[in-house]
Order: sequence, then C-alpha cells, then structure tokens
Amino acid sequence: MAVDFAFRAVPYSLTARGRFRSCAYALIVLGLVACDGSTGPRRRGDAGAVGSLDAYEYIVVGSGAGGGPVASRLARDGHRVLVVEAGEDVGGALEYRVPARHALSTESAPMAWWFFVQHHTDVALDREDSKWTDQGILYPRGSALGGSTAVNAMVTVLPSRGDWDRLAAATGDPGWRASEMDRYEARVREWLSIEVPDPTLVLDDVATLDMLRAAADVHTGHDGVGSVLEPSDVAITGSAIAGLLGRDLNEALHVGETTGLYRLPLATRRGERRSTRELLLETVAAGHPLTILTGAFATRVLFTRDDASARPRAIGVEIVRGRSLYRASLETASLETGSAAGAPEQVLASREVILSAGAFNSPQLLMLSGIGDPASLEPHGIETIVPRVGVGRNLQDRYEVAVVGELGAPLSIVAGCELDGAAESDPCQREWNQSGGGGVYGTSGFLATVLRRSSSDAPYADLQIFASPSDVRGYFPGYSRASVERSNRFSWVILKGHSRNHDGRVELGSADPFDRPRITFASWDEEDPLGDPDLRAMIDAVAFVRRIHARMRDLHPQDRFDEIWPGPEVREANEIGEWIRREAWGHHASCSNRMGSPADAGAVVDSRLRVIGADALRVVDASVFPDIPGTFIAMPTFMLAERAADLILEDAR
Ligand SMILES: Cc1cc2nc3c(=O)[nH]c(=O)nc-3n(C[C@H](O)[C@H](O)[C@H](O)COP(=O)(O)OP(=O)(O)OC[C@H]3O[C@@H](n4cnc5c(N)ncnc54)[C@H](O)[C@@H]3O)c2cc1C
Repeated sequence: MAVDFAFRAVPYSLTARGRFRSCAYALIVLGLVACDGSTGPRRRGDAGAVGSLDAYEYIVVGSGAGGGPVASRLARDGHRVLVVEAGEDVGGALEYRVPARHALSTESAPMAWWFFVQHHTDVALDREDSKWTDQGILYPRGSALGGSTAVNAMVTVLPSRGDWDRLAAATGDPGWRASEMDRYEARVREWLSIEVPDPTLVLDDVATLDMLRAAADVHTGHDGVGSVLEPSDVAITGSAIAGLLGRDLNEALHVGETTGLYRLPLATRRGERRSTRELLLETVAAGHPLTILTGAFATRVLFTRDDASARPRAIGVEIVRGRSLYRASLETASLETGSAAGAPEQVLASREVILSAGAFNSPQLLMLSGIGDPASLEPHGIETIVPRVGVGRNLQDRYEVAVVGELGAPLSIVAGCELDGAAESDPCQREWNQSGGGGVYGTSGFLATVLRRSSSDAPYADLQIFASPSDVRGYFPGYSRASVERSNRFSWVILKGHSRNHDGRVELGSADPFDRPRITFASWDEEDPLGDPDLRAMIDAVAFVRRIHARMRDLHPQDRFDEIWPGPEVREANEIGEWIRREAWGHHASCSNRMGSPADAGAVVDSRLRVIGADALRVVDASVFPDIPGTFIAMPTFMLAERAADLILEDAR
C-alpha cells in the first residue's frame, strides 16, 4: 500500500500569517509522525498515540451533531475511534452552559467560527441587507467540542414523519422511512436530555402572557379575522396558555404533526446545555476506545490506490494542530503572538474516514482532497481524483425574518437581566444558578412557538413562529448584544421550513485549507421572486404576526405596542416581499453533499452515506440531506448519525 501524494498539486502554506513551519511532505510516507518528529499529546481516551500506524479503525472529522453520535456509537461498539476537532473544549464557559447566553457564544472567540456569505447571487442585492458588512453577511457556526451544538439555541425538534418517508423515496432505501427512524430517535434520547422549559414562566409577566394569548387567539381564529369564530375578549386564559405550553411538541410530531402553540423543547439537563460534547466525554469516561483530539484541523483526506485506474481508498487524514488555525476563527489575529501552527501530520484509519465537518467544511475538505467538479478544482491546481459535480452544490437553508414590536414599559420577564454585563451582578443569572437552571435564563430566549402550515394543502407544518422578548434581526457583528439592549422589545421570528431553493453553493476560494470557502445561497434569485411559494408563505406569516399585534393591542390596552421592524410603512404584500427578500437569513445550512443513487450525477454520497467513487470514506453530517428536513436540523442530524453508525457497523461485519 502506498500513500498517493500526487493528489495535491498545490501545497498550502500559512505564510500569510507567518506561521507555517515548512515540512517535507515526501518524507512522511507512512511514517505517520509529524514533520518535526513529534507525535503530540493524547488528549483523552486510551487509544494509541496520534501517528501510530494502526492506532485507529475510524477517524471522524468534526464533533458536532453528525460527528459526535457516530463517533460515540462506533467506540461504544468497541472500535478504536479518533475524533479530529478543530475547536477546543469550552464546556466550562457560561456562554456554553446557560441557554439564554447562546447568542453570545456565537460571538465568543474560543467557540465561534464566522463565515461571511452571500444570500443572493447578485451582490448588489446583498448590499441592501441591513446586515451587510464589507466581507458579506455574517453566518456564525460553532467550532468547539460539540460543534455547532455547542453554540446553537438547543431547540430539539423532530422533523415531520413525511420528511423521512420522502428521503426513503428519494434514495430508494426503505431504511430511511419514518417507521425505521423511530428507533434512532430512541437512541438519541438515550444520551440527549430534552426538556420543555417551565411553562408557568410566562404567567408572571402580563405583557408576555397577553402576547401569547393573542397568538393562540389568532391561530385558532378567535380574533375573528378570516374565521367563523366570533371575536372574544377572554378566549384563552393564562392557565390555558400554560397548559398549551406544557405540551410536548415532539410528542405531537411523533404521532403525526399537530399545529398550534407550544413551548420549544431544548437539549438541556436541569436548564443547562447538553450537546454532543457531553456524549463524547461520557463515552471516554466509560472507558470506550475513543480518542478526542481537539485543536486539530484536518486539511485533506489521504488516499491510496493499487493503480491509477483503481478506486481511491481513504486511509487517513492530514491534520495541523494549533489553536484557531482556520480563518473563520475570531481569534486568528492573536496567533501572531499566541499559539503557533504545528506542522502537518498524518493519522491513519484502518477501516474508514468519516467527514462530519458540517455543511460548509465537509464539501471544502472533499474538494481539497480532489473530490468534486473538475471544472472548479482545476483553477485551484487541485487534481481531481473522484469527479463528483454535486460536491458543494444543492446548499440549502431555511428562511427567517422577525417582526419586532416595542412596548412602552419593560417586559418584566427580562427586566433587570444584564445578559451582557458581569454574570455575578446579573439577577437573572443568579436565579439560574440558585434555582438549578430555572428562570428566563433556562430558556434559549424563545418563550413559545406557533407551528403552522403555510397553506391548507402544505404537506407538512412548514412554519414555526417563535416569541422572543428581545430584538431579533439576524446575524451581524454585535448582534447578540444589540438584541438585548432594550427590555421592552418583542420579536416574532418567522422560520420557513421545507424551503425549495436548491441553488446554494459552497465553492473553494483557494487551495489553502485554512481559507474559508465562498458560500452563496442564491435565495430568491428567480425572475419573479414574489411568485415563489416560500416567499408567499412568509408574506402571509408576516400578516399573521400583524394580526397577533392587533390582538395584543386589544388584550393589553394598558400599554402602547408599536411595530418597529420592518415598521408599518412596509404594508403592501409586494413591499413585505421585498423586505423579506432583502433581510431574510438562515442558520441551518445543509444539503451540500447530497445523498442519492450512484447513477445520479449530482449525488455525492449513496444512501449508506459512502462517498460515491471512493472507498472507506463517508460523510455523516447535515450536508448529506437531499432536502432540508423539518423545521430544525439538529435532531434529524443526530438521528441520521445514529443510523450511520449502524450502517458502518453492518458494513464492517
Ligand atoms: C447560532 C446557531 C443556532 C442554532 N440553533 C439551532 C437550534 O436551536 N436547533 C437546531 O436544530 N439547530 C440549530 N442550529 C443548527 C445546528 O446546530 C447545526 O446545523 C448542526 O449542529 C450541524 O451539525 P453538523 O454535524 O453538520 O456540523 P457542526 O455541528 O457544525 O459540527 C462541525 C464540526 O466540525 C469541525 N470542523 C470543521 N472543519 C474541520 C476541519 N477541517 N478539521 C477539524 N474539525 C473541523 C468544526 O469545528 C465543528 O466543531 C444552530 C446553528 C447556529 C450556528
């Protein structure tokens, strides 16, 4: 067996930052030691040292929603597994632990990666977005042990059952059917605690309660608009609201989805974040053969093949160790005087390499490794070893906008909270500490959601409309602090699931693995965007929120309530549509290595998640869905990863 080094035509360097220690690639042939001869420290677990020839059976790149469960399951089955994670373990940080602080974590240097994306192919349209920066539009991701599940809002919601059935039909693999996937939901629940935050929390804040009563009234037609029901002043009482919020949305989705008002289930235990981090650490603590290498950035997949015509077989990955090496890191600048980049090292897997680096980084890694569209690899001097035009294509996301209102008086549920101040002096933080994760900080900022179908013939509930006592406008540098500056703002965040746009792309900006890729979502780029059903659904959802506002004014006459974003001047459907087209954002990037039949030129992995055209290489993360499932992506990705482990173990047998 010989490692084929010819696949990389253009060696990268860190010279731009003056941090690269040169390394003679040719000398590393299967020696598996670093160029400087070091093997480096083992972090956790008891598998062999990084660099020994047969140390690992499986290497998993990335420890997020995909990588965490698959790595843990394989190790629990007795296999020697190495997790290569670019980020660090940030588990002790309050931004990690406290649900209400999650937005701060996406602006926190040790755990966030910042990508800057284009929402539209025509950058002139992006420039009209209020969130535009010189680099593009901010798109945060997590880079830490736990991946984006270490920074996300923890909302843990099943997809519609139809999502799985659709995947089974699209791939011809009945194993993806909802009835089959139930067992993987059960597996996720073995390690993930899912809680519904205290439904009575809203009862003490009259304004918030009235807002939720207004939402329930409008959803059921009790506001009298477009409904056979008569308007009623007291249609829904506070205790009825608490009753509604006490219901489990996942249970409703499990038995066949139900629309209505719900509390959002969170991945927390006693009000504290649980992510794939805890799963991985518990797997190590239980003595399973799992090694976790944090601060290790994979730069490419290593292959071998018997002769030039044979299929390449993945045998390992090249990594560089150091802190914040990737240019999406918020800490990169501090590297000049801080940690130094290590030299490239190689780690081998005797069975398989599994890429779980997420919807932006898994396609980037494939392309850097010579798997992709030859026409887009060649300009970067990368030799194509497996031509797959679908790599980085079909990128999808959900659309979100928020309608923000302002009251005359602060909302008592958040009044006094100093999310941005010192934790010691913050009364809401003290309440969380003293009550074992309770109070408003035990929520991720969302107090309730209305699950709806955008039209009566929509096959699934495709709208989630969340209530947040904050000012939500999407992602821009400083957004997390700006959103909580005033305690008299209330947002209804509209999320459109099952979006139809498949035109997004992840493309290499250069052959340098530390550079961020170019990301374009191509949202509403069609000639008649206002005719797009997703945009129409969101326009209707804005009208729905405005009905909630009107009903709120009826139920809560003691205070003013004014819409401040987009504002009453954005009134006509076409104006609302233009505003949505300009301002909508997303944060569930997925589908950029889509699953499909090997005969399908656009597919990247088959229904067993094997990279088509290569051996011993899989992708297990949010990038493999052909269509974005449900309204939240973490739970479907956990379930997919659990099934992936079964497929890998079956194939190993
Ligand atoms: C701010 C925010 C809020 C969100 N809220 C929710 C929510 O409430 N509910 C929900 O369902 N979803 C939410 N999401 C989305 C969800 O968390 C992610 O879509 C999901 O975690 C994706 O899983 P993944 O395995 O594909 O990638 P990730 O979880 O992002 O994991 C990828 C990991 O790979 C590592 N990595 C990448 N490249 C390399 C490399 N070359 N070498 C080594 N390591 C590498 C990264 O450091 C990262 O840790 C949110 C996302 C964000 C950013």
